[in-house]
Amino acid sequence: ATPEGELLQPPADLIGDPSHARHSHLPLPRDLFAPRKNSRGVEFGDREALASLLEETREHAPRCDDAIAIATRESARVAMAAAAGAFPAWERTDVETRAAIIERAADLVETKRGELIALLQDEAGKTLDDALAEVREAADLCRYYASEARLLFRERPLPGPTGEDNRLIRRGRGVFVCISPWNFPLAIFTGQVAAALVCGNSVAAKPAAQTPLVARAAITLLHEAGVPRNALQFVPGGADIGAALVVDAQTAGVVFTGSSETARAIHRALAASDGPIVPFVAETGGVNAMIVDSTALLEQVIDDVLASAFRSAGQRCSALRLLCLQEEIYDDALAMLIGAARELRVGDPRDLSTHVGPVIDAEAKAALDAYLSRRRAEGSVLFAAQAPQSGSFVAPHIVALTRAGELREEIFGPVLHVARWRAGENGFARLVEEIAASGFGLTMGLHSRIETRISELAELTPSGNLYVNRNMIGAVVGSQPFGGWRASGTGPKAGGPDYLRRFLREVTLTVNT
Ligand code: GLU
Repeated sequence: ATPEGELLQPPADLIGDPSHARHSHLPLPRDLFAPRKNSRGVEFGDREALASLLEETREHAPRCDDAIAIATRESARVAMAAAAGAFPAWERTDVETRAAIIERAADLVETKRGELIALLQDEAGKTLDDALAEVREAADLCRYYASEARLLFRERPLPGPTGEDNRLIRRGRGVFVCISPWNFPLAIFTGQVAAALVCGNSVAAKPAAQTPLVARAAITLLHEAGVPRNALQFVPGGADIGAALVVDAQTAGVVFTGSSETARAIHRALAASDGPIVPFVAETGGVNAMIVDSTALLEQVIDDVLASAFRSAGQRCSALRLLCLQEEIYDDALAMLIGAARELRVGDPRDLSTHVGPVIDAEAKAALDAYLSRRRAEGSVLFAAQAPQSGSFVAPHIVALTRAGELREEIFGPVLHVARWRAGENGFARLVEEIAASGFGLTMGLHSRIETRISELAELTPSGNLYVNRNMIGAVVGSQPFGGWRASGTGPKAGGPDYLRRFLREVTLTVNT
């Protein structure tokens, strides 16, 4: 029973400002995509097929200058009421049906990958590689949560004395408010929504103000897959709309990915409410460090550092911010790193030779430029790449620190900080303590061939995800559950086996037989 209600759309009285949108009509080169598979082995097509699909879809895809109706406080309230109205029927829909719908959404993500990649490039400035990885991740998250829900919702008899029947029954909670960021406007948006829906909740989804079109495309395909119209409400808007949703009387849970500052604001707002005490899942930022010791393989280190610090223009919460090089290799490693960074091409993300695309908008660029000019003034900029003058490009930079503990704030862009460390007595443990002093705990990297060092760091690490002898971005759904703690978020980890538990309620039924 999934009755199709009428979708209550926010009135089109406020029209979004599309000025953040970037366009390019560059011809699409044809040699990017090696055949690749997602974690379930689904082929995404060879490079020829994908390139022509992209060309074709560009002609028909929604444009970034499409107007989009932004929610008002009143329409947000109406959307919450409609979602609450749709909750009982959706919750009663059995888990198998819900899971099958979410899996159908994964199929549609794959079918519509051309349109989605084009939108990710146009609206979020993603390179083709990043856009493709994101499409794959969105499909993976849907399939993973669908299969986890089937396991979790299986009714399990519990032990008890003779004559007593105990059961744990899992159910949805109500309306989940899903607030997602612009840096993964498809994968994180879809992942949050799919998790909430598959557990039987209805959803009010507020994407980042910078990326409503990608979000709208995801909403459209979830509805097409069979999610009842009113059970999934699209509520695009800015921080004021997010704030209104969080404190709405219908809110039964909040899932948020974004800055630590906004997570704290949501926490405070929830704490101040007199209504039900609801679960809050937050995934925020990090001051993520990689430690390299003198046994590391430098060629591999350089490759992994460039990917971790500069891919996605450094706009991942997992990105490497602080590279800690052991004193003995500091000069060599730095020279190699700067040499390799000189090869980075910054420019239009649709150009296949581009490694680093734009940052999300002019405001982000202004903040990064201000930070970098402060660093330049103090003489600590070791390297700056070339970047186009017009558009919101920020060149990759390498900034020297006097010590690792100096970096306390997350710089969300292509800025890599480097510090040297001395082994000595307890030097490694002291370094880890200094890194931990930032208060964050998201990702961390280690390059070392010393086995005891790996286990030592696994013990000491302040991070949620620790990557050894590889890059430290691009957590794979189901294999590398992703998320941190401390100022980096609440957990449970996205793409991990415990994530869904925060989205449901449990009923213990005890019957005296
Ligand atoms: N899951 C992404 C990664 O592993 C990062 C997500 C984020 O930036 O919020 O790179």
